[in-house]
Amino acid sequence: MNRINHWIDGKVVESTSGNSAPVYDPATGEQTGAVGLASVAEVDAAVAAAKAAFPEWRSTSLSKRAEVMFRMRELVDANRKEIATLLTAEHGKVLSDSLGEVARGLENIEYACGIPQLIKGDYSEQAASGIDVYSIRQPLGVVAGITPFNFPAMVPMWMFANALACGNTFVLKPSEKDPSVNMFVAELLAQAGLPAGCFNIVQGDKVAVDRLLDHDDVAAVSFVGSTPIAKYIYETGTKNGKRVQALGGAKNHMLVLADADVDMAADAAVSAGYGSAGERCMAISVVLADDTIADELVAKIGERIPAIKVGPGNAPDSEMGPLITSEHRDRVRGYVDGAADDGASVVVDGRDGVPSEGYFLNPTLLDGVRPGMACYDDEIFGPVLSVMRVSGYQEGIDTINASPYANGTAIFTRDGGAARQFQFDVQVGMVGVNVPVPVPVSYYSFGGWKASLFGDTHMYGPEGVNFYTQGKVVTSRWPDPATSTVDLGFPETR
Ligand code: NAD
Repeated sequence: MNRINHWIDGKVVESTSGNSAPVYDPATGEQTGAVGLASVAEVDAAVAAAKAAFPEWRSTSLSKRAEVMFRMRELVDANRKEIATLLTAEHGKVLSDSLGEVARGLENIEYACGIPQLIKGDYSEQAASGIDVYSIRQPLGVVAGITPFNFPAMVPMWMFANALACGNTFVLKPSEKDPSVNMFVAELLAQAGLPAGCFNIVQGDKVAVDRLLDHDDVAAVSFVGSTPIAKYIYETGTKNGKRVQALGGAKNHMLVLADADVDMAADAAVSAGYGSAGERCMAISVVLADDTIADELVAKIGERIPAIKVGPGNAPDSEMGPLITSEHRDRVRGYVDGAADDGASVVVDGRDGVPSEGYFLNPTLLDGVRPGMACYDDEIFGPVLSVMRVSGYQEGIDTINASPYANGTAIFTRDGGAARQFQFDVQVGMVGVNVPVPVPVSYYSFGGWKASLFGDTHMYGPEGVNFYTQGKVVTSRWPDPATSTVDLGFPETR
């Protein structure tokens, strides 16, 4: 059986904690590996390696840091298939989706190649007589990333690309459910010329996370995962004096107005609701359908579902794979069981006809869903699309804005004025106009509002560079005997 270890100081380090967790192939339910779960001492070793590597890495020139990122860009590009295959084996998502994940992660490495430009400060000559003022941004030190199971390759890339390019050293704690892919990424970083100790991986669970949160040498923590854990990470990390950005869960609504192209909206709802078996924080979970087109929209979504090919992620014709674990599959099924009891109608029942092995649930469509039902209120994180009928724009926007989650949302309409009003009114961090999964490109930043983000800074892009650096402003005067005099007054600029 595959034993998945840590990566510390540029090499594989076997876990000696005595604790491990099983890793499964979700398509078969077979255990394929065991991941070592770090003890406090193992986390300390990773942080110590990162701390020791920091002085030299932060002194490395911007061009050299950019060069490492350029080489990493080439290596990830050349190894897309290998990364995607590793990812599919433990996550279960279909290979084409894994390749998409790698491509979106790669964008962040490409962005970090521009670090000499991105990290530039400002300069004001003659802020006062003979005095110049300039700002610089410096790295924080050792920063940690704690990541979820659903994007095991992309989300770490959201973090480490900018963190390293800015001159920090990094400790990653990946999800224990699909930990292998980052061990391969660590090897690529080493091949790209990143010095040992700059990038480390501790495999682990709450023990490892808690140690990262209270370790004095960890300056900042980036987290992506569920809302309760995001809140815990933010509260604990900030209490311990760390800079924290913690992205949480989601319940994304797609509002379909009466004038929308209903076929386009149905295609989008199916793609965004069932892609990656709904295990995306930007998945569409609720379709808010204007009463006047709701019957047609539900029918068109229902017509498309039987064509979705559900199967193992590594089978070439599969379009939707299994869920991550049997427990999670059962939890998602539980929401479908409860929906009917709560008064929703199960239009397409994904509990029927699932393969006997693996953690599959077929695409499910619910109609007549309302706030107050568990299938509406909770993040399901599975292939369950709920339709709620609304009386028009106002009920739609009020429903979205009443949700505690605020990660992504979309409006489908042909009316530019309505779309603009939606963008103005909606209290959500990432908005699509006829785009169902509006994940920002890497030169913008990613993040929700409300219970979908704890902290002030969104992830990657310009806000990522800000998060991983601290500002310093220098006020400077060079000796000029002609102007030097004793003056006890408060320095003025005019
Ligand atoms: P999770 O919160 O269970 O786990 C995330 C990380 O936290 C993992 O590394 C895990 O080991 C660790 N962790 C879990 N329980 C912990 C505890 N009690 N104490 C300390 N650490 C703990 O999330 P998941 O199930 O891996 O991922 C799915 C969730 O992530 C969904 O809620 C999804 O919406 C969310 N997500 C959000 C975004 C976003 O950008 N907002 C992106 C991807 C996923």
